[in-house]
This record gives sequence, C-alpha cells and structure tokens, in this order.
Amino acid sequence: MDLDGLIRDRIRDVVDYPKPGVVFKDITPLLADHVAFAGVVDAIVNHHGRGTVDKIVGIEARGFILAAPIAYHFGAGFVPVRKKGKLPSATYERSYDLEYGTETIEVHADAFTPGERVLIVDDVLATGGTARAAADLVARGGGDVVGLSVLMELSFLGGRDRIGNLDVHSLVTV
Ligand code: AMP
Repeated sequence: MDLDGLIRDRIRDVVDYPKPGVVFKDITPLLADHVAFAGVVDAIVNHHGRGTVDKIVGIEARGFILAAPIAYHFGAGFVPVRKKGKLPSATYERSYDLEYGTETIEVHADAFTPGERVLIVDDVLATGGTARAAADLVARGGGDVVGLSVLMELSFLGGRDRIGNLDVHSLVTV
C-alpha cells in the first residue's frame, strides 16, 4: 500500500463526535502503526527539505504529536501553540470560530526570533480557522510563516480558501 492509501486506511471516521453532525478523523490508529507514523513524518520533512525551516509549530493537541518528530528530523526547534491558559509565560492570543464551537489559542511571546522561518503542523485542516489563527500568532511573534502541513485536509469545508496566502501542504485530501 502506498502512503496515501496507508494514511486513509489508518485514519478512523468517528461519526457524531464530539457532537452530532461531525465526522471526527481519529488519527490514533495511524500513530499506533510505526510504518504509517514514520512515513508521515518523513513525507512532511521531505516535502519541504531539511534546512528550510527554523521552527516547527505544533497545534494542541494532536499537532504536538506530529510536530515534535518532524522538528527533530528537520533539525528545527519546536514551539507549542496551546489552548488559552496553558502556557506559563507571557503570551499572544487569538480567538476564532471552528467547526464545533469557538476557541482561543496562545503562543509564548518570545517563541520566535524575528525572521525565523516557521512551518505550522496539525493533524486535520477543516474550516481553516485554527491554522489562520496560528499563522497570525507566528506573525505577531515576528516569525515568517513558510507554510502549513497537515495529515488530512477536509476540502468540502473550504479551509484552504479561508487561510488566504498560506502555503498548504496536505498528505491526503478528502
Ligand atoms: P479548523 O479550525 O476548523 O480547520 O479545525 C482544525 C482543528 O480542529 C485541528 O486542530 C483539528 O485537530 C480539529 N478538527 C476539526 N475538525 C476535525 C475533524 N473532523 N476531525 C478531527 N479533528 C478535527
């Protein structure tokens, strides 16, 4: 099976979670398969190329799991973007609407050096609100967003249009 097939096979649809009408894309079967997990990490690193970014931003919580090994293989630093109230030092924050509710995310104000090249990583791109907010936080912190990499893009939700000029790289599109 190629990587596209493997990813599709290992992401489980959970209907009506966390609320009716939502089909949740559960990546835990993919993470539990070392071939699929490593394949995803390698594919994202190879797409951009080692040495092309300075920091990887992972979005809480599943983005952390993907972003940390990607940062390691890039030779880049890791920066967490977290839900409001979780980061201990001074932060910038941004609020936005998402597929199921509203959210506020934060990043440490000193997370980036001006001009650092930053890649944002998450599991799923849905409406694009999270990615847009994360990109805005990176810019606010002085970072230069080079793009967004996700495992899966839900194209019917139009996230790509909503996030404007952000370069989107998705391993699988549904
Ligand atoms: P959005 O801001 O609408 O693009 O939503 C993206 C964020 O919400 C990501 O951090 C995803 O982990 C999560 N998310 C949204 N929709 C889904 C879904 N259908 N399945 C799994 N995660 C989702």
